[in-house]
Amino acid sequence: MEIRIWLAAILAAAPLCAQNPVRLRVDATDAPRRVFHVQMTMPVKAGPLTLLYPEWIPGEHAPTGPIANMVGLRISGGGQTLAWRRDSVNLYAFHFDVPAGISSLEVAFDFIAPPDAAGFSSGASVTSELAVLNWNQLILYPQGAPADSLQYQANLRVPAAWRYGTALPIERESGNDVEFKPAPLTTLVDSPLSAGRHYRTASIGNDNGISHYVHFAGDSDESVAVPEDLIGQYSRLVSETGKVFGSRHYRDYHFLVTLSDHVANFGLEHHESSDNRVKERTLIEASGRKVEGSLLSHEFVHSWNGKYRRPAGLTANGSDGGYDTPMKGDLLWVYEGLTNYLGEVLAARSGIWTPEDYRDRMAATAALLDTRSGRTWRRSKTPPCSHRCFTIRPTIFAITGVPRITTKRAR
Ligand SMILES: [Zn+2]
Repeated sequence: MEIRIWLAAILAAAPLCAQNPVRLRVDATDAPRRVFHVQMTMPVKAGPLTLLYPEWIPGEHAPTGPIANMVGLRISGGGQTLAWRRDSVNLYAFHFDVPAGISSLEVAFDFIAPPDAAGFSSGASVTSELAVLNWNQLILYPQGAPADSLQYQANLRVPAAWRYGTALPIERESGNDVEFKPAPLTTLVDSPLSAGRHYRTASIGNDNGISHYVHFAGDSDESVAVPEDLIGQYSRLVSETGKVFGSRHYRDYHFLVTLSDHVANFGLEHHESSDNRVKERTLIEASGRKVEGSLLSHEFVHSWNGKYRRPAGLTANGSDGGYDTPMKGDLLWVYEGLTNYLGEVLAARSGIWTPEDYRDRMAATAALLDTRSGRTWRRSKTPPCSHRCFTIRPTIFAITGVPRITTKRAR
């Protein structure tokens, strides 16, 4: 009962009618030209309103929301254009007044996908053949309401003949139009989508009704011609995580794997998916599969360690989605350190690495730390990033004896 009263108070105080979903329409047919067209229909009440562009991005733990790539903002209601003012201090905030008698707004802007490769999700994410879409780059949200209380119903149009994959539940599909089920803003932002002309989806196992998929998007047909033995190893990865964790907390899980020399290369964790980007030929060459062998297992472990269980400093008022709230990374040594350890163990247990590959990685990590002079004069701090930026200290963990972590099933 207390929870219901609290929620009712939150919704009453919210600057828009949080029960009605924001209708989000994204036209990605110009993605090969690096342009996304965004339209939103947003329920509102009369009075002053501030819309925010997401600034602090989960998984990146930093204010990396690409505000500079958002252009052409237009806000209208009741057939008239509303004048907005950008905050002079918080450059992610837009202020305006909603006139009396207006119950919904039309908000439109374009997002210009950056061509440079640096960065995480705000780095290069689009080529003429594929795109990785992060919804936080394609929305505005009202200041003052918890992100979990805001419902967004997204529609997406992809270029003709492109296919796609995402963890965001789909309501229906028609041609190259996709209508998604309404979802809380946190789920939307946490559910990236990959799409492309050269695309392959592989099913890698079902555990008690929970399905797992890998979606490959590449710059060529050859790049997504992944050998079947690797698909089998990904299936073993799924079953091995069941042995390590003993439970699953997600509805389904989707690995988005992007194979391109022209997008930023990294791994980024999400609750029900992960955004994994490597060079175009990585998975069709044995050396590439070995070098990137722990990428998917690392990001998969983050679904438990980092998403289902979140360091306190990375939440806002105890919940996810405080995109305007600075994140504190003091506990990232657990978030990344334990994940890195388990990710490498699981790479070996799934057969992606041989035992010798695992020992070689441990030796390489030890050798790297031997020559990292910064460790002689300052305490180790985990940087605000994922997979590539962290190497474990092999003296901390035993090679065998993976701890069994028991978590409550959330669904
Ligand atoms: Zn990580």
